[in-house]
Amino acid sequence: MIEVLETLGLQTEDEIALLNFNSYLQIPSVQPNVNYDTCVEFLGTMAESLQLPMQVLNLVEGKPIVLMTWMGTEPALPAILLNSHMDVSPVVISEWSHNPFAVEIEDQNIYARGAQDSKCIGIQYLEAVRRLKRSKTVLKRTIYLSYMPDAEIGGLKGMGAFTDWEDFGKLNIGFALDSGMATLGDKFVAFNGEKYAWNIRVCCQGTSGDAELLLDDTPGERMSRVLQKFFAFRTMEMEKLTANPDWTLANVISINLTKIEGGGRRNMVPSEFVLYFDCRIPFERMDVDELEPTMDQWCHDVSNSVLIDYTLQELPINPTRINDPYWVTFEKAVEEVEVQMFPGRTDSRHLRNAEIPVVSFSPIINTPVRLHGHDEHIGIQTFLDGITIYCRILRELGELME
Ligand SMILES: [Zn+2]
Repeated sequence: MIEVLETLGLQTEDEIALLNFNSYLQIPSVQPNVNYDTCVEFLGTMAESLQLPMQVLNLVEGKPIVLMTWMGTEPALPAILLNSHMDVSPVVISEWSHNPFAVEIEDQNIYARGAQDSKCIGIQYLEAVRRLKRSKTVLKRTIYLSYMPDAEIGGLKGMGAFTDWEDFGKLNIGFALDSGMATLGDKFVAFNGEKYAWNIRVCCQGTSGDAELLLDDTPGERMSRVLQKFFAFRTMEMEKLTANPDWTLANVISINLTKIEGGGRRNMVPSEFVLYFDCRIPFERMDVDELEPTMDQWCHDVSNSVLIDYTLQELPINPTRINDPYWVTFEKAVEEVEVQMFPGRTDSRHLRNAEIPVVSFSPIINTPVRLHGHDEHIGIQTFLDGITIYCRILRELGELME
């Protein structure tokens, strides 16, 4: 990457930003079993270069939370939190056309795991602070920069532990920014809420025995009938999505079969197969009360020996209001924003649960969504433009007096 930078003739502060981005992306903080030491050490050098006090909170062993503070001139005003995460999702190397941790550039795009989710914003926040400090800007509100572990695996031991921390309330956070998602469109997208998750396990029991026989009521047949019910429902949701051009994934229930257990020997019919479904429900979905009895009935209709249980049943989390002064100020700084519901789950939900308004936002337009996918990338100019946007956001939110 460094050789490419030399040919671009960039401004020094852009070079610094890209070099820091490069260093951060090269750290393979990939799930599962992440060793966060290198990230914490790297962020320590960043904090030092910006003269920002930095704390490392070890609320859960092996899951450090990095918290930097840029103190405002009126610290009694609620603070602004800039959140991102240190971990990145796993990679299937064979699908990548670039080494996901070598940070290669092709056609002015930076290819690396974390380029969109969410090391980009982690560096953009820092570089925005660097630029504001260099131009001697002082903000009234305190700005916190947090770097979370484990966001890719639900964040319970990262952001969840942070919002449960006994001193969390003392931070007096009024508004938070967290990661959003890239968009292929040319208008920024900000998310004010997200779907909530149910995990469902269906145990299909039946007759077991020798595979030479034609037994009645085998678990495989029951599993097949259960799958038909779940997939018919899935098809209905997909049809709703197709029938409503304005809708996104965030408007429909997504349900997927994610794991099957059972069997062992090729010539034995086992006594059960166990199915696992991942289900994501939109906040505004009013018929959710019917969902559990309906699924119970599907299983019951197949057989009394088909047992369903709900291993996770999250409750809906209130979306962030988009007409409060923080959100309005954020929108003014970004200029044109489309507000949507996030189709997946982010650390924002822990903050919203703690009743902190959050905008989930990544300033990445005209870019294919590659979070969690292969060939994740961001344009060099898109990355640099994002820093400018965060400078504007911080200037506006940091001076907000309401
Ligand atoms: Zn992610």
